[in-house]
Amino acid sequence: MASVARLDLDGKPIKGMTICMIGAGGFIGSHLCEKLMGETPHKVLAVDVYSDKIKHLLEPAEASVPWADRIQFHRINIKNDSRLEGLIKMADLVINLAAICTPADYNTRPLDTIYSNFIDALPVVKYCSENNKRLIHFSTCEVYGKTIGSFLPKDSPLRQVRLHFRLSFLLLTAICYHSKGWSNKLISLPVTVGFHTFTVFSLPQSRTSMAVTAVSFFPYCSFLSKTIVMDPAYFVLKEDASPCIFGSIEKQRWSYACAKQLIERLIYAEGAENDLEFTIVRPFNWIGPRMDFIPGIDGPSEGVPRVLACFSNNLLRREPLKLVDGGESQRTFIYIKDAIEAVLLMIENPARANGHIFNVGNPNNEVTVRQLAEMMNEVYSKVSGEPSLEVPTIDVSSKEFYGEGYDDSDKRIPDMTIINRQLGWNPKTSLWDLLESTLTYQHRTYAEAVKQAISKPLAS
Ligand code: NAD
Ligand code: UDP
Repeated sequence: MASVARLDLDGKPIKGMTICMIGAGGFIGSHLCEKLMGETPHKVLAVDVYSDKIKHLLEPAEASVPWADRIQFHRINIKNDSRLEGLIKMADLVINLAAICTPADYNTRPLDTIYSNFIDALPVVKYCSENNKRLIHFSTCEVYGKTIGSFLPKDSPLRQVRLHFRLSFLLLTAICYHSKGWSNKLISLPVTVGFHTFTVFSLPQSRTSMAVTAVSFFPYCSFLSKTIVMDPAYFVLKEDASPCIFGSIEKQRWSYACAKQLIERLIYAEGAENDLEFTIVRPFNWIGPRMDFIPGIDGPSEGVPRVLACFSNNLLRREPLKLVDGGESQRTFIYIKDAIEAVLLMIENPARANGHIFNVGNPNNEVTVRQLAEMMNEVYSKVSGEPSLEVPTIDVSSKEFYGEGYDDSDKRIPDMTIINRQLGWNPKTSLWDLLESTLTYQHRTYAEAVKQAISKPLAS
């Protein structure tokens, strides 16, 4: 820990605080604890039913770690433990991460899902409100549900066909760049205005010779492909403007989103009526090391974790990655370490974070699930030194994979205006880079154990 005074975004010294972190033993909690122990003077009262993912902090290999005595683990199930209120009273800030949050549970264990995400969070909100404690509550991007755009008919004029020209643009640039006399003089930029994309060529030494070439001038180029695009107003998700659109009650997938939405509304109302100081975080597919489990290794063999761990498990076992309903859904993935930076800014800048709901995601890392599978196959081959899978993917129906009542969010792009304005935060890590470091971790942590599990003869 640095001994120089740490300053907040307004240049004021940050005071050390005690944080009661509920769900500290999970994926996000473990990274947040690591960050707080490694880079801040804050103390953590870590509450969870599991501690494996923070064992390295609780029982460090060396005695002289900078966080000795700053983290304390309390094995508590918040459903039924009276010690919770005492811990909240001891804290300056409460962070609630505890939840059932794997989609495979939403339609198969809807009661547990609703109880965990709504009922079990109620006492936390109540104790914070009654004891005037600030609360950072973890919600989800799933509260947005489906996008408005997903309801537009396929042939709607509001969906536009755009020629995708990136390759031809690069090709043209490369040709021009290598032509005599043009070298170092040509600047070319893709510019999107409304639905229209233009390539702008500019010679810096003679600005008047700027030529604007509509991309439709290059329809003959075989590198062009078609992309369906629509006005971002139909799909970009804004905290203070987008509606929450869920499927019917039989689609029990939405039990999680609905419970999270109701607890958000309750926290918001506690803020409005009882002056609760709160911040709500809506994570957009945070991924990285320690996320979930590998079935049959450090979790149940029949368990279905979130997509990163499902695909990692397939890659470790050298079996095709399963694409649910064709893998057409789109997600934006953010590296856990980028996201944790945003949470630390919220923790240490209460005046800027209180009363806000923040999207935390990386709008630049959008892929379809199919593209994610293909990229993971390529990256895993690179980091493991094994050849990539010859049959990288197979299609499975959602009914077969998740059972009755599954439904999906079609697309999740976070609007970044609010977090940018309040905290000046932006994500940094590209999808390729975050997969490279995450899959290096997965390979190092699990490859040997999976090999041994596969080679064990089946019990008769
Ligand atoms: P996680 O499952 O790894 O962590 C949740 C932790 O809460 C677990 O360690 C679990 O043991 C603990 N917990 C659950 N019920 C508890 C109880 N009754 N008492 C004590 N501890 C309990 O999940 P995560 O990915 O770290 O997610 C943390 C939060 O962020 C959740 O609220 C989740 O809904 C939200 N979230 C995460 C993502 C993401 O991308 N990872 C996306 C959307 C929302
Ligand atoms: N998915 C998939 N194969 C898998 C696991 C998940 O195709 O083995 C899909 C899932 O249907 C969803 C997306 O991947 O469209 C992301 O799933 P995840 O479990 O990470 O949670 P979500 O983003 O839906 O909350």
